[in-house]
Amino acid sequence: MTAGAGLPMVGPMFAAILLSALAMSLIVGARYLLASGAFALATRHRRPGLYTGLDRQIRREIAWSLASALIYGAPAGIVAWGWQAHGWTLVYADVHAFPLWYLPLSVLLYLAAHDTWFYWTHRWMHRPRPFRIAHAVHHASRPPTAWAAMSFHPWEAVTGAVVIPALVFLIPIHVGALGVVLTIMTVMGVSNHMGWEMFPRRMVRGPAGRWLITASHHQRHHERYACNYGLYFRFWDRLCGTDAGLGSFREAA
Ligand SMILES: [Zn+2]
Ligand SMILES: [Zn+2]
Repeated sequence: MTAGAGLPMVGPMFAAILLSALAMSLIVGARYLLASGAFALATRHRRPGLYTGLDRQIRREIAWSLASALIYGAPAGIVAWGWQAHGWTLVYADVHAFPLWYLPLSVLLYLAAHDTWFYWTHRWMHRPRPFRIAHAVHHASRPPTAWAAMSFHPWEAVTGAVVIPALVFLIPIHVGALGVVLTIMTVMGVSNHMGWEMFPRRMVRGPAGRWLITASHHQRHHERYACNYGLYFRFWDRLCGTDAGLGSFREAA
């Protein structure tokens, strides 16, 4: 009854964590395939021929994205296990635990925090060495397609995978609001790369578009590299003088 006494417990706990991580990887992978598949289908209808000749690139985008899904599942699975088993995180299920006005505010706080993290890590990854090591994979898509949403080198995937699992320890959020955050994250990640603008021109070129990032803005990042680093909002780009306006889309082949 010495050092080995606690060991039999380690096996099942490790198995539970591993299972939770694998389940999360599967969910993230399925979510990617569904979302990217849906927008690729929409592209076929709205811009027939836009992805002509990109088959090899699309296969690469899907392979990197599925590898990223595996990585995204690890921290998410560990935190989900801790939430279930030990009540970790500030995620709450009772909608009245906080005032109702906090629901939209919490969504906004998550998006702003994620955007800030993304802007600065993304900008750092455009320095020559980190670019070569971690970020070149994402820019190998020229032009990106709806399948490029999670096309990241594993190092870049790690920087993205830790954001939400870290935020749930810092900012309280209702489980439904967290679902909204994850949905916005998924839809914008896919639509920003699909090669055409789905939002009305009036919105993109109007006052809202001056602050919100849609496909037109991220397109310019993929054209020119050293600008438009943001994820959801143009705030940091505008503040730091890295905003180069909206890009243009290629026509269908
Ligand atoms: Zn991109
Ligand atoms: Zn980049």
